[in-house]
Amino acid sequence: MIPYGRQHITAEDIAAVREVLESDFLTQGPALPAFERNIAKRCQAQYVVAVSNATAALHLACLALDLQPGDRLWTSPNSFVASANCGLYCDAEVDFVDIDPNTWNISTTALAQKLQQAERDGVLPKVMVVVHFAGLPCDMASIHELCQRYRIKLIEDASHAVGARYRDEPVGNCRYSDITVFSFHPVKIVTTGEGGALTTQDPHLAQRLRLLRSHGITREPSLLTQTDIGGWYYEQQLLGYNYRMTDIAAALGSSQLQRLDQYLARRAELVANYQQRLAHLSDKLLMQHAAPDSGSSWHLFVIALRHGENVAGSRKNLYQHMRQAGIGVNVHYRPIYLQPYYQQLGFGKHYCVNAEHYYEGALTLPLHPQLTEAEQDFVITTLESQL
Ligand SMILES: *Cc1c(COP(=O)(O)O)cnc(C)c1O
Repeated sequence: MIPYGRQHITAEDIAAVREVLESDFLTQGPALPAFERNIAKRCQAQYVVAVSNATAALHLACLALDLQPGDRLWTSPNSFVASANCGLYCDAEVDFVDIDPNTWNISTTALAQKLQQAERDGVLPKVMVVVHFAGLPCDMASIHELCQRYRIKLIEDASHAVGARYRDEPVGNCRYSDITVFSFHPVKIVTTGEGGALTTQDPHLAQRLRLLRSHGITREPSLLTQTDIGGWYYEQQLLGYNYRMTDIAAALGSSQLQRLDQYLARRAELVANYQQRLAHLSDKLLMQHAAPDSGSSWHLFVIALRHGENVAGSRKNLYQHMRQAGIGVNVHYRPIYLQPYYQQLGFGKHYCVNAEHYYEGALTLPLHPQLTEAEQDFVITTLESQL
């Protein structure tokens, strides 16, 4: 099966991991802060906190931004469930804003309208989680302006967007947000096995995130409430978690980051080829519309059958045919609120119409740096034969 996404591990990666395995520290050693510095440099972010995975990162981001029971968190329905679950971890109410039918990112128009209504009803959210779907940055300038106007904290779920750019600056520099979250799961752009990171420009948020990552415990002399007790002394100052990343993972991450530009270039090249060769099918299928001011990291390459009669049936046939041909197509994403768990919370069908129309026709084609021209050609000709 040609997978839709796959990690790429080199001899250098293995050597970097081996070095940690043979060192004194498997966790809480020097590889973690080194990885954080590498991310900071790459993203032009002042502070980076690496954690066990992006789901933990989203949870910590909500906690650091003081999302409390009864508060509201809004996000995009076109995402992995973790973008919404982080609100539920904090006992907040989660709600969804429909997507733009061209970019498949959260719709700024829908957001503006929903905020107006929420203000009238006195139910404004405290936190927004926007998702850079498939690696394409959202319309951050407009979203930021809206969040400022309504005093909403803004988290970028950039799990897909390691290396992406917005208005010629790296995603992760938090110019338009409070916190950005990255994932290093093996299907994402670079991997640490399991892993995630938060970036921020705010020193107070960074300090809170560091505490929350490790049980709420600190040994940092300047932060202790009592001094001169002894060298063994540490303080638990709030209720945190063990969301730490190991040094083994961090070393792999630093090694992978060295090839980020290479990966991004290869992904862009494969995508350009898909776009060119599928252009003649534009009466049947849609491709993600990129704004001119944003550079996608191309985590995913998605096509969507145009909305029409029985599009869901056609997509299912196409999915099955491609799979039978040995092509590991996938679907990203079924709107989160259609999951049984969210249905139980009271969300009904047709809540976000654009997200549902998109989902019914969506199909993710294989895209990863090791995908060969021959494999991609086979994917394209198999697809063409079915349309
Ligand atoms: C992968 C992903 C996550 C979760 O990442 P983990 O590191 O696996 O926890 C969150 N949000 C989005 C949009 C993702 O794609």
